Amino acid sequence: MERIKCLILGGGPAGYTAAIYASRANLSPVLYEGIQPGGQLTTTTFVENFPGFPGGVDANTLMDSMREQAKSFGASIRQGTATAVELGGRPFRITIDGEEELEAETLIIATGAQARYLGLPSEEKYKGSGVSACATCDGFFYRKKTVAVVGGGDTACEEALYLAGLAKKVYMIVRRDVFRASRIMQEKVFAAENIEVLWNCNTQEVLGDGFGVTGARLLRKDGTVFDIDIDGFFLAIGHTPASELFAPWLTLDAAGYIVTEGKSACTSVPGVFAAGDVQDSRYRQAVTAAASGCMAARDAEKFLIEQNS
Ligand code: NDP
Repeated sequence: MERIKCLILGGGPAGYTAAIYASRANLSPVLYEGIQPGGQLTTTTFVENFPGFPGGVDANTLMDSMREQAKSFGASIRQGTATAVELGGRPFRITIDGEEELEAETLIIATGAQARYLGLPSEEKYKGSGVSACATCDGFFYRKKTVAVVGGGDTACEEALYLAGLAKKVYMIVRRDVFRASRIMQEKVFAAENIEVLWNCNTQEVLGDGFGVTGARLLRKDGTVFDIDIDGFFLAIGHTPASELFAPWLTLDAAGYIVTEGKSACTSVPGVFAAGDVQDSRYRQAVTAAASGCMAARDAEKFLIEQNS
């Protein structure tokens, strides 16, 4: 059975950055990219807020560059998804794609999170051309336009406020007659002149002209169906961290995010580290994921030194 010093799960900014740091520290890391090589970022098109790219950078190009950088230092980047783990003792045992078994002295989990969508076919059709689950990534394209944000939580309020600073008008589509968001976020939303909250509304369909979003058809609880004209449709109805596999072994918070200790990537199991969106419900940015990947590799290196001394 192959024995790996530092196994990294997840091919996004957190995983690739962990691989860059771990390979430079001579940990001979092996990284399995999972179902979506490049991670969530590849669901967007252009990244304008990653430092170092004044003209912006194509999301796939950015991820390819990170992957190449990790490879150039000797990291082994492989296709495959972990399907079973045993973290009860070291070395940890990990099964890839249901068949290949590996042993790992340290494990870095960077499996990310998935934004939740409503599940409408029209929403799927316009993903990347008007439908987005990330206002900080895509909001800039809607300057002086009209957009809608679905959801009534803190994220929805935060995204609506961010978009209100760019767009002409922001609708919030909220399925109940109250927000779930904290009082302070609600007050900010109510104070914003260009945000209109559509209470008790669910989206029936995202409307488009074949090229991009032009509107949304909404159903109010009283049975009224009506259309709104919009250029962008933003989902903010929560994220699902890809942590299910690790739930029997690691401490997770109520929403399923892996809990890390203080300012570190350490999980509740010594030798297992978590980086990126699987442990971060708050910032969820490529740059913060990359930073936490660096932390995880440094923590893994320190752990191995301590074990061997
Ligand atoms: P939440 O789970 O808190 O909120 C999700 C929102 O989406 C709710 O209003 C929910 O409605 C709505 N929703 C869920 N499913 C659907 C659906 N199918 N159709 C329409 N609406 C739907 O998720 P968030 O991402 O907002 O927040 C996650 C965590 O992160 C929270 O603990 C939050 O407090 C925290 N956070 C904190 C921030 C801050 O402090 N600045 C910023 C961002 C997040 P309903 O209420 O009816 O269930």
